[in-house]
Amino acid sequence: MQISVRLTDEFIELAKENTGNNVETCGILGASFRDGTYYVTMLIIPKQEATAHSCQAVSEEEIHAILSEQSLYPAGWIHTHPSQTCFLSSIDLHTQYSYQVMLPEAVAIVIAPTDPTRNCGIFRLTDPGGMGVLRECSESGFHAHRETTDGGPIYETCSKVIFNPNLRFEIVDLRSAP
Ligand SMILES: [Zn+2]
Ligand SMILES: [Zn+2]
Repeated sequence: MQISVRLTDEFIELAKENTGNNVETCGILGASFRDGTYYVTMLIIPKQEATAHSCQAVSEEEIHAILSEQSLYPAGWIHTHPSQTCFLSSIDLHTQYSYQVMLPEAVAIVIAPTDPTRNCGIFRLTDPGGMGVLRECSESGFHAHRETTDGGPIYETCSKVIFNPNLRFEIVDLRSAP
């Protein structure tokens, strides 16, 4: 998967006001597919409900309508942790599961400006390990997950993303749309 080098910076800028208020912000990555590679060409900022520790898109139909209109794949999502470290919470794991079910290559990008060790992480659920745990979990809210059957981690840093300086992408901010 290829992502523009400017995408995280642009997203940080779009999230700035929320981040200052200790509220999360989320965005969805739309990608085109050619020659065996997904190219993230759209960042959608959906209408959303967020707290300091969670963020939820409220009109998913709207997002899927835009993606299918443009023939783009839901390639994952990006969200901020305004005051937490750079990791995937149990709720984040369920969100990521829903993306990885749709597209096995989908990624979760976390922007954590206050994390002293890393401000940006790109993660995926391990497959089959983490995917198996999430498939069988019916809990919601923050909760603990059982261990994977192979004893490995539930999620891992994704090393397959290439940051491309020349890739163009469009931003669609639905927050102020009617
Ligand atoms: Zn999170
Ligand atoms: Zn769970």
